[in-house]
Amino acid sequence: MEAGRKAEAADNEGETFSVCVLGSGSRGNALFVSDGRTSLLIDAGLSARETIRRLETRGLDFAGVDALLITHEHRDHLQGAERLVRRRRMPVYLTAGTWKAAPGLHDLPEVMLVACGVPLRIGTLTVEAFSVSHDACEPVGFTITAAAGRIGIATDLGSVTDSVREHLRGCRLLVLEANHDPGMLQEGPYPAFLKQRIAGARGHLANGETGRLLAALLHPGLEQVILAHLSETNNTPERALAGVAPFLEGLPVGLAAARQEKPSPVFRLSA
Ligand SMILES: [Zn+2]
Ligand SMILES: [Zn+2]
Repeated sequence: MEAGRKAEAADNEGETFSVCVLGSGSRGNALFVSDGRTSLLIDAGLSARETIRRLETRGLDFAGVDALLITHEHRDHLQGAERLVRRRRMPVYLTAGTWKAAPGLHDLPEVMLVACGVPLRIGTLTVEAFSVSHDACEPVGFTITAAAGRIGIATDLGSVTDSVREHLRGCRLLVLEANHDPGMLQEGPYPAFLKQRIAGARGHLANGETGRLLAALLHPGLEQVILAHLSETNNTPERALAGVAPFLEGLPVGLAAARQEKPSPVFRLSA
């Protein structure tokens, strides 16, 4: 009886897909997703201690995390990886290019290489990596599919390709980069070469570009969009939200902006 009750509880939990952006921005990115049976962290750009602390403040269980996925080798996506894995041994999934470019990860006990466009199963979740245009060795975004549906994550990309649009189609929840306001970037304090890099095709998306991507992805099943990787120098949450909102064409889609300094609420999608 006891086992039966547990299974039933697990079934019910398995119907809810939870997503929490633990922190996002140029100083560190980390995101938690779980269907109640399998839990993943995507990127480890906060310190291990801060990642665990933020999970706890949202009532999420670090001890239940099954695997870590890394999008690319930039410091704001992996600086906490080694210590996190030391705190809780778990496999780390990344592309071969990211692995080669991140010697700090070469001593991890369990590295699993992912190939773009080849879905892989982690517990009850199906994960698929897709290529993004960014100045790293082999950067990717991810889609993650559970019984309750699919979510898509794309946080470091300088331009939107057909492949990105194709992979992000049909998601119930999207985490999309809205890095900068072009006016703030041009008038801001960054040196010219850095402005060029950020605005370039292998840099980061501007609010309007994110809006246009979103417009191409609108469908009746889309429930929530979380804007991420906002620059603290070249954007504000208000500008990002105001720049993207018109592209939702009045549809009842939740729109939120993830912050650098605190975790988002836990967004829950039920079956
Ligand atoms: Zn990056
Ligand atoms: Zn980044």
